[in-house]
Amino acid sequence: MSSKVVVIGGGVGALSGAIRLAKMGFEVELFEKNSELGGKMNEYEDLGYRFDTGPSLLTMTHVIDELFEFVGANRSDSLEFLSLDPICRYFFADGTTLDTSNDQEKMVNAIDNLAPGQGTAYKNFLNYAQRIYQLTADIFLFTPIHELPKLMKRNYLPTLLQLNQIDPIRTVHQSVKSFFSDHRLIQLFDRYATYNGSNPFKAPATLNIIPYVEFGLGGFYIQGGMYRLVEVLESIALKEGVQIHTNTPAEKILHDQTQIHGVSVNRTVIPTNYVLCGVDITVAYNQLIDGKTKRKQYLNQLEPSLSGMVFMWGIRKKSTKLSHHNIVFSPNYQLEFDQIFKDQVAPKDPTIYIAITSKTDPDHAPSQGENWFTMLNMPYLNNQQDWNAETSRMRSTILAKLQTLGLDITDDYIEVEKVHTPEDYDNIYGSHRGSIYGISSNSRSTAFRRPANRSRNLKGLYFAGGSSHPGGGIPLVMLSGKMAAELIAEKEKII
Ligand SMILES: Cc1cc2nc3c(=O)[nH]c(=O)nc-3n(C[C@H](O)[C@H](O)[C@H](O)COP(=O)(O)OP(=O)(O)OC[C@H]3O[C@@H](n4cnc5c(N)ncnc54)[C@H](O)[C@@H]3O)c2cc1C
Repeated sequence: MSSKVVVIGGGVGALSGAIRLAKMGFEVELFEKNSELGGKMNEYEDLGYRFDTGPSLLTMTHVIDELFEFVGANRSDSLEFLSLDPICRYFFADGTTLDTSNDQEKMVNAIDNLAPGQGTAYKNFLNYAQRIYQLTADIFLFTPIHELPKLMKRNYLPTLLQLNQIDPIRTVHQSVKSFFSDHRLIQLFDRYATYNGSNPFKAPATLNIIPYVEFGLGGFYIQGGMYRLVEVLESIALKEGVQIHTNTPAEKILHDQTQIHGVSVNRTVIPTNYVLCGVDITVAYNQLIDGKTKRKQYLNQLEPSLSGMVFMWGIRKKSTKLSHHNIVFSPNYQLEFDQIFKDQVAPKDPTIYIAITSKTDPDHAPSQGENWFTMLNMPYLNNQQDWNAETSRMRSTILAKLQTLGLDITDDYIEVEKVHTPEDYDNIYGSHRGSIYGISSNSRSTAFRRPANRSRNLKGLYFAGGSSHPGGGIPLVMLSGKMAAELIAEKEKII
């Protein structure tokens, strides 16, 4: 008889793990507290305006392709990945703009037009970032690094012996500044630290692999909307025999001193020797696991990553100045991060990200309208912020700032509005203190201290998702699902 695995949470990490486990012959039962799967990768629709509520840019698409191959399917039969050009339009505080591109020559020319001579700096920076990716990806992204025997591979030795080559001592900002002299480009490349929820003025320069992942490997949009990925993963999971229960929160992970033995759902015990938990690890320990006080204390003192505030606006107007992805920078980035991470308040003058999928998928908005997903970086929850007040302050700030760009968007044009604050990320998806990417990488040690995919104090308990290794973002949470599933399969001697 096949072993049973209970999967808690239907986020992309746990869902990917569930698919692999089912394919490997396990009996898999998945419980999701919300009415649909996908977790933070979700969608919202109102009056003909359709929004992706979470991820808008897809990277490392080979990770998705590999999951399809694993189940014997062809990704391109169900999902089309579009390489957008420009990838993103940047608006700087001095009124200049830059369109970024995956095409290196085009990108170098665009940078040289903005800041003469900096095109070469970009090429050098990309080569440097590629080198870090080559040194780190196998070991830090594709391997469960907490499993010592797996680290002892011969080809990992050069990296382990030359850790200085991955630039772990300087910060992202210090490194970016050593390549670029133009303050706008420094701000642009600093921003990539936020893609894993961190502060560029604190996070180690190793995170410079993120711009390489976007420019070297490509940044993509999924035709039809990012949520298509969840829909397709759900259909694969069902086909592989995963039993999916939505609107069904797991109440407790049951255990004795050392071993888990069940999960309680609807006040009924489901016996199992294996749990793959896709809920934020700190929340799982705080709410689902009794005892284990030391582990709880450890997890609760780790600094959470950035949170966000999102305005999904159905706008009865078409903008000619905006592209599919847009970033409107604040004039003082250091101040913005100090306010977010040190003062833990909503920034006075935030950098604004706007994604408009109707530019690529016209049916995501009525013919005379556009669907604006407008996002600001925000501090994680600290019990002292007033999110109602911050929401109305941020709303006015954004609208005023967009006026300065000549985007005449006033209240009258906003037909549909849906807002997500850090409190919503906490309440809706169970993200610890509203953090979007698990723990932050705001110091050299935390960057390499994400919790493991296998629990050390409870046998049979495994973790997937953005709060566990290797971190947040769609490809990484899918890798966490893969690692957790493989560790369970190894334990059962299936692989
Ligand atoms: C606004 C925003 C923008 C983003 N942009 C990008 C981007 O452009 N590119 C990118 O790659 N990533 C992006 N991300 C990050 C990405 O969305 C996350 O890293 C990823 O989706 C997290 O997946 P996860 O597996 O950790 O699960 P989560 O999405 O955290 O889902 C966890 C699930 O567990 C469920 N759950 C919680 N408690 C229980 C319980 N007791 N019982 C049952 N179920 C439970 C929740 O309801 C939820 O469905 C963005 C995120 C946000 C919010």
